[in-house]
Amino acid sequence: MEQIGHYINGEHVAGTSGRTADVFNPATGEVQAQVALANQAEMDAAVAIAAAAQPAWAAQNPQKRARVMMKMVELLHRDMDKLAEALSREHGKTLPDAAGDVIRGLEVVEYCIGAPQMLKGEYTDGAGPGIDMYSMKQALGVCAGITPFNFPAMIPMWMFAPAIVCGNAFILKPSERDPSVPMMLAALMEEAGLPKGIMQVVNGDKEAVDAIIADPVIQSIGFVGSTPIAQYIYGGGCAAGKRVQCFGGAKNHAIIMPDADMDNVVDALIGAGFGAAGERCMALSVAVPVGKDTADRLIAAMIPKVESLKIGPYTGGNDVDFGPVVTSMAKEKINGLVQSGVDQGATMAVDGRDFSLQGYEDGFFVGATLFDNVTTDMDIYKQEIFGPVLCTVRADTYDDAIKMTMENEYGNGTAIFTRDGDTARDFANRINVGMVGVNVPIPVPLAYHTFGGWKKSAFGDLNQHGPDAFKFYTRTKTITSRWPSGAREGANFSIPTMG
Ligand code: NAD
Repeated sequence: MEQIGHYINGEHVAGTSGRTADVFNPATGEVQAQVALANQAEMDAAVAIAAAAQPAWAAQNPQKRARVMMKMVELLHRDMDKLAEALSREHGKTLPDAAGDVIRGLEVVEYCIGAPQMLKGEYTDGAGPGIDMYSMKQALGVCAGITPFNFPAMIPMWMFAPAIVCGNAFILKPSERDPSVPMMLAALMEEAGLPKGIMQVVNGDKEAVDAIIADPVIQSIGFVGSTPIAQYIYGGGCAAGKRVQCFGGAKNHAIIMPDADMDNVVDALIGAGFGAAGERCMALSVAVPVGKDTADRLIAAMIPKVESLKIGPYTGGNDVDFGPVVTSMAKEKINGLVQSGVDQGATMAVDGRDFSLQGYEDGFFVGATLFDNVTTDMDIYKQEIFGPVLCTVRADTYDDAIKMTMENEYGNGTAIFTRDGDTARDFANRINVGMVGVNVPIPVPLAYHTFGGWKKSAFGDLNQHGPDAFKFYTRTKTITSRWPSGAREGANFSIPTMG
């Protein structure tokens, strides 16, 4: 059985806590590896190595740090197939989708090549008589990132690339469900020229997370995962005086106006609702057709498309639309929620419950399910299902649809489908959601914009990647300097003003 330890100071090392977790191949249901789960002592040891290595890294000029990112982009392209295969084997998503996971991370590494420009700071010459004032952006020190299972390449890169290019050392605590790609990324960063100890991977579960919160040397925590854990880490990290940003769960609504191009809508909902088996924080999980006629046309067009979705292992070739979900626990949770939808009175338009794949009976496959006539008091509406299940909540009017979206506790992403610019513009302005698509189903901003939700989808005030990342991973220090001209004025007891 493969044993996955930690990546410490440039070496693969075995865990010493005595605790491990099984890593599955979701397509077959087999345990393919065991990953070590770190304790406080292992975390503290990694942090000590990071803290010792960080000052020399921060002292390198920003161009030299950016060159590591330049080389990393090249290595990611070189190893794309290898990374995608390892990712699919542990996560279950299709190979093209796994390559997309790597590429959306790579784009942030590319953006970080511009670090010298982003880290320039500010300068005022002659802020007062003989006085100059300048602000510099300095590294925080040792930063930590805690990441979810669903994007094991992209989300670690969204964190460690900006953190490291800003001059920090970084401890990554990836999901214990799919730890291999994060370990490969750390090794690639060193091949790209990063000194040992600047990027380390400490595998683990809650114990390792609590060790991060408790470690006084760690200056910042970035988290992406479910909302209850986001809230827990945000509270604990802030109370410990750290800089914290936590991104949580989602329930993304797609509003379908009567004038929308229905072919485009159906393609969009199929891809965004069922791609990656619905295990995306930007998946569209709620369809909100406006008016009875729109809803009837939508359901009629969706049923054959949902029924013909091809579900299979990542080794099944390009025909496979989506793979298994990540664990048997996830499968049980999804099936339980689907059953609750039936029990609470939703209409089952396509029933995926009995799906089984010949030769892969032990895999964690879940059939595609489409619900109609869902109401906002049902559990399938209130909870994040995180599976291949699309709920249709019919709305009488545009105002009802926008109100429903605004009253939902999550605010990660949303989309409107319409041919009317005025409606789209009104929606984009009024909606209380962080990322909005207009005839675009998954509006994930590109690397040079920022990514983040509102409401219970995010805690903290800065988004991921884009200019916000350079703010999150640096501290501003402002220096007011005056060089003596020879005149001595004695002490001044009023607050200094430059007037
Ligand atoms: P999760 O919250 O179970 O796990 C995320 C991380 O937290 C993992 O590293 C895990 O080891 C750790 N963790 C788990 N339980 C913990 C506990 N009790 N105490 C401390 N740490 C704990 O999330 P997941 O299942 O890996 O990922 C899916 C979730 O992530 C979904 O809710 C999805 O919407 C969300 N997500 C959000 C975004 C976003 O940008 N908002 C992006 C991707 C995923």
